[in-house]
Amino acid sequence: MVSCIICHLGIIEGVDSSHNCPNGHQAHTECLKEWILHSSNCPVCREPYSKEVLDKFKDFIKLRENEKLEALDNDLRIDELKKMEKIASKMSFLKFIESIDILINEQEYDYALSRLDLHNNGSNSIQKGQNILFLKGKINYMRGRYDLAINLLFKLVKEKYDHSEGFLFLGKAYEALGLDDKAKWAYERVK
Ligand SMILES: [Zn+2]
Ligand SMILES: [Zn+2]
Repeated sequence: MVSCIICHLGIIEGVDSSHNCPNGHQAHTECLKEWILHSSNCPVCREPYSKEVLDKFKDFIKLRENEKLEALDNDLRIDELKKMEKIASKMSFLKFIESIDILINEQEYDYALSRLDLHNNGSNSIQKGQNILFLKGKINYMRGRYDLAINLLFKLVKEKYDHSEGFLFLGKAYEALGLDDKAKWAYERVK
């Protein structure tokens, strides 16, 4: 019995479907399928398969190509969705910051802080975290909790040493406590 050049199992005549290269190297149709996807030459002798043999795999190759395209299309769609989600979450965060600014203007400091605390729990972006840290520091300065403000704002500028507004409120908080040297240090870093 002839054995398949790919899987080395026997090819039963009249039962197994198989194909030959021009030099008579025989392979199961099923085994040859995956090979033909990558090469139209015989894996043993590198002789090209006849058009007749290759035509037998045309539909299979097309099917595989379509599957690949579909998968690619799907990936693109998922990327697009992810991008949209990011934008939506950015927008909703901006809205949230806006609402905090309104609360600050209305001097609803405690309420603003509790909303910030709630939001902070779910926040995973560094930038969002820094925004929240800044707002908490600023609010604490505004409600006269200078020690807390310094704590928060110092943490912020340690993370982001070019946070101009952070240094500004840090300076103000130091100044309010009469720590003029430290205030000067902070003000010097406001751009
Ligand atoms: Zn085989
Ligand atoms: Zn061959």
